[in-house]
Amino acid sequence: MNIVARVASIALFFGVLALLITVWAGFPGGETKPDDMKVYMEQALLAPASATGVQTKALLGQSGETQIKQAVYTAAAGKQAASAAAAQAQIPKADPKADPKAEKKVYLTFDDGPSDLTLEVLDILHKEGIKGTFFVLGEQAEARPEIINRIYEEGHTIGNHTYDHRYDKLYGHFQDFWAQIKKTEELIRLITGERPQLVRAPGGTAGHFDQSYFDLMEQGGYRVFDWNVDSGDSKRRGVPAKDIVKGATAKVSGSEAIVLLHDSKGHEESVKALPEIIGYYKKQGYAFDVLTPEMQPVQFKAQQGAVKASQPSRQWIKDHVLANAKLFETGRTLAVEFGAMETAFEPGEYKMEDGRLMVPLRALSERLGGTVSWKAHSKTVSVALGGKRWEADPLRRSISPAETWGRPLPSDVRLIGGTAWIPLRDALAASGHPVTRVTYEDGEIRVITL
Ligand SMILES: [Zn+2]
Repeated sequence: MNIVARVASIALFFGVLALLITVWAGFPGGETKPDDMKVYMEQALLAPASATGVQTKALLGQSGETQIKQAVYTAAAGKQAASAAAAQAQIPKADPKADPKAEKKVYLTFDDGPSDLTLEVLDILHKEGIKGTFFVLGEQAEARPEIINRIYEEGHTIGNHTYDHRYDKLYGHFQDFWAQIKKTEELIRLITGERPQLVRAPGGTAGHFDQSYFDLMEQGGYRVFDWNVDSGDSKRRGVPAKDIVKGATAKVSGSEAIVLLHDSKGHEESVKALPEIIGYYKKQGYAFDVLTPEMQPVQFKAQQGAVKASQPSRQWIKDHVLANAKLFETGRTLAVEFGAMETAFEPGEYKMEDGRLMVPLRALSERLGGTVSWKAHSKTVSVALGGKRWEADPLRRSISPAETWGRPLPSDVRLIGGTAWIPLRDALAASGHPVTRVTYEDGEIRVITL
C-alpha cells in the first residue's frame, strides 16, 4: 500500500469513527436545528469522503506535483478527522469546549461587498487585531476598487462571489457561472495583482450547484466555500443586531466556525453586531483566521433540488477549466542562478502570471548581493545588481538599463502593497545576466542565466 492510500484509509477509519460517535453521543445544544445538524454531519463526512476521492485520483496518475498537493490535503483531512474523533471520544458529552487542547478557529466571512459598510467592518477588524475573508462581487469591486485595495493592503483575504449575484443568470448554464467568476477574477487581479482562488456561490451551493458545478470548479483550481454558521443577517430586510449576534454565536458546536455575514448596502445591523460577535468568539477561546485554499472546504452537498445545469462540451472543459487550474499552481520553489550566486523563492514569495514569473525587486536584489533604493522625487526604484545600475519605474511601467543610456524599455513593473514587483526576466537582463533556460522539475522551477 502506498503512503497516500494508507493515509486515506486511516482518514476514512477515523472519519467513520467520528461520525459514529457523533451520532451516538447526539448533538450538543438543544437549539440546534435539523438544518445545522445536516451541515455538521456533512462536515464529518467530508474528510473521509474526499480522502477516498483523492486516493482514487492519485492512483489514476496525475503530475507529481498534483499528487504531492493532494497527499497534503489527504493528510490534513486525516488529521482533522482523527482529532475530531479524539476530541469526541475523550468527552462523553462530545463538547469541544471542554477539551482545552482542541484548537478552535473562527473564520468571519463577509459577502456581497464592497460597500461603504466595508470600511466600517475594516475599522472594527483593525481595532480588534483580526483578519477576515471578503467574498466580493465583481460589480461592486468595479465601482469601489479603492476598498478592494484597502482589504488587500490590510492583510485580509479576498474571495470571488461572482459578478452580479443573479441566480437566474448563474445557475442554468455552468458557462455563465464560469464567465462571471473569470470576469470578477480579472477585475480583482487588476487591483491587487492576485487572482482570488476562493469562491462562494451566491446564496450558497445548496439548491444551486449540481455535481457538475462542484466538479468543474475543483478542476478549474478553485476552492468553493459554504459556511456552517449563518448569522441570519440576510433572512429578511433589517434583521436587528441582537438577532444577528444570536445567529452568529448560538449554533456553534464544532471547533471550526465559518460565519456568514454581509457587508453590502443595507447591512448596518451586521456592522453593529460585529464587535459583540468577535467578543463572543474571543471569550470562547477561538483563534481568528482567514480561509485558505489549503483548507478542506466546507461545502453543502449537491442537492437534488438543484437545477440540472446544462453540461459544457468536453472541448470547452479542456480549453477553459483544465487550462485554468495552471493559474493556481504555485507549489514549486523558484531557484534563480545568477553568475556564481544562487537564490530561491518559496511558493508564495513569487507569482506566476500568465506564464510569466514575477518577483519582489528588493528581495531579488538583496539576496543576490545588490541594493535597491526608492527615489521619492522621481518615484522610481534605483537598482545596483551584478555590477550594473538601472532604474525601475512602476508608474510608467518601464526600466532604464545602463545599456540603453537611460532610454526606458517597457516592463511590467508594479507596486503591489508598497512593494515593487518586476518580471524576473527583465530584472536579470538589466543586471547583465539574461535568462538562457528555464527548467521545470519536481517541486522546482530553475532559472538559468548567462
Ligand atoms: Zn451573496
